[in-house]
Amino acid sequence: MNTEAMRVQFIAGAWRAGRGSRMLEVTDPARAEVLLRYPAASRADIDDALAAADGARAWGALTALERCTVLRRGAQALRAQADALARQLTHEQGKPLAEAGREIEQAAQMIEWYAEEGRRCYGQTIPSRFAGTRFHTLRLPIGPVAAFTPWNFPVMLSAIKVGAALAAGCPVILKPAEETPLAVAGLVRCLADAGVPGSALQLLLGDPAEISSALIASPVIRKVSFTGSQGVGRLIAEQAGHHLKPVTLELGGHAPAIVCADADPHAAVRVLGQIKLRNAGQICANPSRFLVHRSHQAAFVEAFAELARATRVGAGLQPQTAMGPLASRRRLDAVAALVDDARDHGARIVCGGSPLPGPGWFYPPTVLDAVPQAARVMREEPFGPLVPVAAFDTLDEAIAQANALPVGLAAFGFTQDLHAARRLAEEVHAGAVAINTVTLMQPETPFGGVLDSGLGRENGPQGIDAYLSTRSVVTA
Ligand code: NAD
Repeated sequence: MNTEAMRVQFIAGAWRAGRGSRMLEVTDPARAEVLLRYPAASRADIDDALAAADGARAWGALTALERCTVLRRGAQALRAQADALARQLTHEQGKPLAEAGREIEQAAQMIEWYAEEGRRCYGQTIPSRFAGTRFHTLRLPIGPVAAFTPWNFPVMLSAIKVGAALAAGCPVILKPAEETPLAVAGLVRCLADAGVPGSALQLLLGDPAEISSALIASPVIRKVSFTGSQGVGRLIAEQAGHHLKPVTLELGGHAPAIVCADADPHAAVRVLGQIKLRNAGQICANPSRFLVHRSHQAAFVEAFAELARATRVGAGLQPQTAMGPLASRRRLDAVAALVDDARDHGARIVCGGSPLPGPGWFYPPTVLDAVPQAARVMREEPFGPLVPVAAFDTLDEAIAQANALPVGLAAFGFTQDLHAARRLAEEVHAGAVAINTVTLMQPETPFGGVLDSGLGRENGPQGIDAYLSTRSVVTA
């Protein structure tokens, strides 16, 4: 038993093994083999982290420029460790090594963005209505943050929350997904080595419900931020509401990709193909419902099937692999069930359609044609390598289909027609719309959902707002 490897909790500046009774597992999805068993954080561990966050003064006392310098150093450390961290990430999460490397780089870029944004948390001077009185505002750190992140982009999504909170001057307790803790621990180590005090950035892993309810209920925590499923997001929001704490939620969606009558279906497939199979489709803003003008349906389906068949599926550490396994047995079963349901609803399986032989959790890229709107895959976020296609005749019909669900994170449109592009950008329910591209989530651009896809925005100038509180000051 490697006891050193079990020290994944980072509390008050020290790496330690959790003192909880429950053991958690990290599994290699390419081999369905346990890589590590580690003990969960206990209630006492959670309390220790809260006490340290409560006493964290050093970080907030630094100037914005000093915090920026430390965070930038952390981003550089992350880059210096990128190869080792990418291997770790591929091992525990499954994505191909090149994608894992890209995730580490994106995490470094996120931290750098927030490091700089922290220097621009400007207040205002407000013209006073009373002679001799001055009005202005200060933007102050909101206080200790509880941040919860998922397993699909464990490092990048943690970097967003941690980078924003720290840049704003807030201590943060991070609870990443228990399934993928190791590369995130690497991120925390880089930031700690760069000079973030141990009280300002802590890491807890354990029983998710126990940790989240203890943190949210604690008077120490002043802000809650969660990325993950809608079910868990609702729970977190209910608890945050009960304790009157502001909450940011990024909950995924079911992004329509609309290919208009004037678009080139082959070009649309080339662009969509850049992202659809990345991370085996386990991306919250992934195009996941393909609404194609009827005149292009056959060409679109055939071109996507060609791309899918040519995609080499395998273990992420093998250099030829273009798409890795799904992250868990749970995801494999969920994806398989969606395809079976679509088949039962009369969809045509053009390629793929059943799990690949194990031992890992591999599901092939699967193109489904003529999928009725009643099929579950058209209503539930598939979070897998599925390309369900349905035809439309008019743009009105496509927009109505896109807006038929109570979610709205991302949407994609393919058209050269200015009027159609404007309608898609303005009428489809989504927090982000990409026309003729799939580039959506950058450090500079606000990202988040409408409807049941979440609350608030991360990234862009808005990203840091969630971690600041505005104080009005009047002097006479
Ligand atoms: P799930 O909803 O059970 O999520 C499991 C994860 O949520 C674990 O990592 C766990 O740590 C965390 N979690 C569970 N209960 C929690 C609690 N009470 N407090 C805090 N964290 C808690 O199931 P899943 O199979 O992992 O994901 C299901 C769906 O979630 C996917 O199909 C997808 O739609 C969505 N998802 C979205 C994102 C995103 O980026 N928005 C990321 C991952 C998953």
